Amino acid sequence: MANPLDIADNPDVKPYRRGGEEVAADFAGLHPPLSPAAAQIEANRCLFCFDAPCTAACPTGIDVPGFIRGIATGNLEGAALAILEANIFGASCGRVCPTESLCEQACVRHADAGRPVAIGALQYHAVEGMLARAGHPFTAAAPSGRRVAVVGAGPAGLSCAHGLARRGHGVDVFEARETPGGLNAYGVAAYNLPGALAQREVDFILGIGGITLLTGRALGVDFTLAELRRRYDAVFLGIGLGGVRALGLDEGPLSGVEDAVSFIARLRMAQDKAALPIGRRVVVIGGGNTAVEEALFLTHHADQVTLIHRRDRLRAERILQERLFANPKISVLWNKVVVDILGSGQPETVRGVLLRDTQTGALSELDVEGVFIAIGHTPNTALFQGQLDMDEEGYIRTEPGSTRTSVPGVFAAGDVQDKIYRQAVTAAGSGCMAALDAEKWLATQPETVSAAE
Ligand SMILES: Cc1cc2nc3c(=O)[nH]c(=O)nc-3n(C[C@H](O)[C@H](O)[C@H](O)COP(=O)(O)OP(=O)(O)OC[C@H]3O[C@@H](n4cnc5c(N)ncnc54)[C@H](O)[C@@H]3O)c2cc1C
Ligand code: SF4
Repeated sequence: MANPLDIADNPDVKPYRRGGEEVAADFAGLHPPLSPAAAQIEANRCLFCFDAPCTAACPTGIDVPGFIRGIATGNLEGAALAILEANIFGASCGRVCPTESLCEQACVRHADAGRPVAIGALQYHAVEGMLARAGHPFTAAAPSGRRVAVVGAGPAGLSCAHGLARRGHGVDVFEARETPGGLNAYGVAAYNLPGALAQREVDFILGIGGITLLTGRALGVDFTLAELRRRYDAVFLGIGLGGVRALGLDEGPLSGVEDAVSFIARLRMAQDKAALPIGRRVVVIGGGNTAVEEALFLTHHADQVTLIHRRDRLRAERILQERLFANPKISVLWNKVVVDILGSGQPETVRGVLLRDTQTGALSELDVEGVFIAIGHTPNTALFQGQLDMDEEGYIRTEPGSTRTSVPGVFAAGDVQDKIYRQAVTAAGSGCMAALDAEKWLATQPETVSAAE
């Protein structure tokens, strides 16, 4: 796909369609943090259930009634420790977890009060202060002399790195991008998790010590899995989903066609979000969370956003769908597939899409200046094809109930391994479990490999 910025010559594709301050305000943060008084009141709505269905519903098993009791009794530090002990990404998870289908869905207050305790907001309230403070709440064990390579600095990789550092192992984290944090830094909606917060959380996690972050270093480009395995006592792979599912059309070198996640990353990283040149009329192809998020993002810039979906219902979470259908700038075309992307001019830029109705077969054209593809992502594991066991889609296979891969001493977790629950909290939880699995494995290895770097 050509550089989407090339389309700036088209008068229908322009930056600053809306004022810079206006757009910046849209992305400034959807959920203001709870005030101390509001947090007290909300914490006192908790019934502190003995069997805690909320804890059972949390993928990281946070002691929810325990931390809420801490807030209710004024012990904010204790509350934060209870959260971080189970999930070192407790701050961002408090903001980005789909709580309505996790802990809050299980809350018994649905039945008597019609709404759950605001667990996510309370969790963020408890941890927020700790991120800002100097020092780290946990201490690392005495150095073990072991070194572990962690590939990928997303929630899975950094949770694993933190867990290993707590156990006294030296960790080198290799991250392909210049900014650590994974999709927390460049994927998740900025109004849920502002960039500064994502960065503050990474700094906090690294604050335990014993972790060296090496950015701009990619597996498959700068080193191989075999090299890491030779130089380190163990290796963890948490590289997420780097591949993009293609439309299967011959798009050619058309400007104005872009993969959804790279657009979201560009938008998140842009200092001035209003300065991105974006078409007046754009389409998003897809029906999952990323497609809906993308359509919502685009309404901050474009006049008209059309979501094209090949089925008659969306796969996205209910709360995202509600926001989508409430937005007058977005319309949805159901049961349609894009069979061609139409271009004009030299160099060729997008002028429309040709659609086919999946039920009647009828063809129709839609004039647009931008096409965003959000039909799914795939693991980018071709880079170690044949070196460890993967499924037919490239997800790394691990032993049941474990993060151990087919190669002894190599562990994997997060999106690259979990094809069902792709959420920050599940990635953080499985990264934490990988640290435990690696610890057990290291204990069985008498020899220590010394890292040459
Ligand atoms: C647009 C979007 C919005 C989302 N919103 C939410 C949300 O609101 N709530 C939620 O819970 N989840 C959300 N998710 C899902 C969530 O972000 C992921 O499930 C989670 O980040 C997965 O963590 P991970 O560590 O496995 O992978 P990632 O976060 O993808 O991190 C992987 C890291 O590995 C690096 N990497 C990749 N290849 C290499 C290589 N070869 N060498 C070195 N480093 C490499 C990447 O640069 C990246 O930093 C969203 C996802 C997307 C795409
Ligand atoms: S980590 Fe997420 S799912 Fe678990 S208790 Fe916190 S907000 Fe709920």
